[in-house]
Amino acid sequence: MRTIGLIGGMSFESSAVYYRLINEMVRDHLGGIASAELIMHSVNFAEIVALQKAGDWKGAAHRLATAGQGLCNAGADCLLICTNTMHLVADDVASACPAPLINIIDETSKALASAGRRRPLLLATRYTMEHGFYTDRMRAMNLGLEPMVPDESDRATTHSIIFDELCAGKVVDSSRDRLIAIIEKAKAAGADSIILGCTEICLILDPDHLPLPGFDSTTIHARAAVDFALGSLPLSAAAE
Ligand code: GLU
Repeated sequence: MRTIGLIGGMSFESSAVYYRLINEMVRDHLGGIASAELIMHSVNFAEIVALQKAGDWKGAAHRLATAGQGLCNAGADCLLICTNTMHLVADDVASACPAPLINIIDETSKALASAGRRRPLLLATRYTMEHGFYTDRMRAMNLGLEPMVPDESDRATTHSIIFDELCAGKVVDSSRDRLIAIIEKAKAAGADSIILGCTEICLILDPDHLPLPGFDSTTIHARAAVDFALGSLPLSAAAE
């Protein structure tokens, strides 16, 4: 089995989900009490948020690239940045590290396209919804995807639910209702699916119980890592 390297802690609430999902998927695949070969560098999220707020993306890229290099030196065969937002610097991290970086935008795009979706609504942080790196990359994959983002006021609502609640460990029922209302509005405007485009949104929304089909970036990303880690192992391979 190949070793998965996770650049996590952004926030630790979602890194815990990655850890559980990856291990559950490996156990489901290999059986018994198998678990993943995995190394995580969990950063201090407060430092990353300060860099985000200052618009210091070069500083953030350096911080994550250093973490990625450490994981490679420790034996990681691939890298995941466990947040959609910080994929803003994914290319910098990828070029600074020897192991391949499994990109959450690419994997989510492929999952949408193979399910025949074209007009997904992106629910995410302001950085992800507004900086263009996410939607531009989706379009550039030439899979026929035309992602939509919520309007200004709904972007502010979503961003605040992510940072003030989910990243702080709070799941608030009224916030779930507000997110569902945003999804209903997008459905009326022609959206055909929802991207849970922040790795904490799965803590408050169940992708299988939304007004539109949901695509959880955390689960999709974890699945891609497990596919990479298990490589060509047959489905029935026994755990060793
Ligand atoms: N985990 C979140 C995401 O997927 C937000 C935290 C961050 O700003 O990195 O975008």
